[in-house]
Amino acid sequence: MKRKEPNEKRIAALVRELLAELGEDPGRDGLVKTPERVAKSLAFLTRGYRQNLRAVVNGARFESGTNHMVILKDIELYSLCEHHMLPFFGKCAIGYISQGKVLGVSKLARIVDMYARRLQIQERMTEEIARAVMEESGAEGVGVVVCAKHLCMMMRGVEKQNSEMTTSAVLGTFRSDEKVRQEFLSLIK
Ligand code: ZN
Repeated sequence: MKRKEPNEKRIAALVRELLAELGEDPGRDGLVKTPERVAKSLAFLTRGYRQNLRAVVNGARFESGTNHMVILKDIELYSLCEHHMLPFFGKCAIGYISQGKVLGVSKLARIVDMYARRLQIQERMTEEIARAVMEESGAEGVGVVVCAKHLCMMMRGVEKQNSEMTTSAVLGTFRSDEKVRQEFLSLIK
């Protein structure tokens, strides 16, 4: 789904109102340009909404004679939780077994960014990344594991500062074949 670019002027005006409501003086030196900065930063952090998978992968599929498991791990990710609009961040591991086609390594990282740069919950994002890799690679199976820390847990509420959430999504043979899933899990350790 392609969305239009956000209206940064309008967002800045809303942020100015928000600052005032929080008891701040949006006119003081340090804050004068804050609304525009927040608008720019939010536009960037949600740009995944305005990307599409085809364009992101952009045909970077390569023929490969083998059908071994391909793993890319420690892919950094930064996202915003949709419940509090606070960051969550961590690492993602992706594995798949190709059926003659592999995706460029940088494309896997770009797929992660495309789904991370929007308001998310970690579970859904993990699933979306897995489906996207499956769709674009035509793999026989895909596994994705995401470990992330959520500022909404660390800074507020329960203040559990060291807790990390792990989510996984497995499709195709990664779901149906226990051995494949175990191989994936041991390789990403
Ligand atoms: Zn949250």
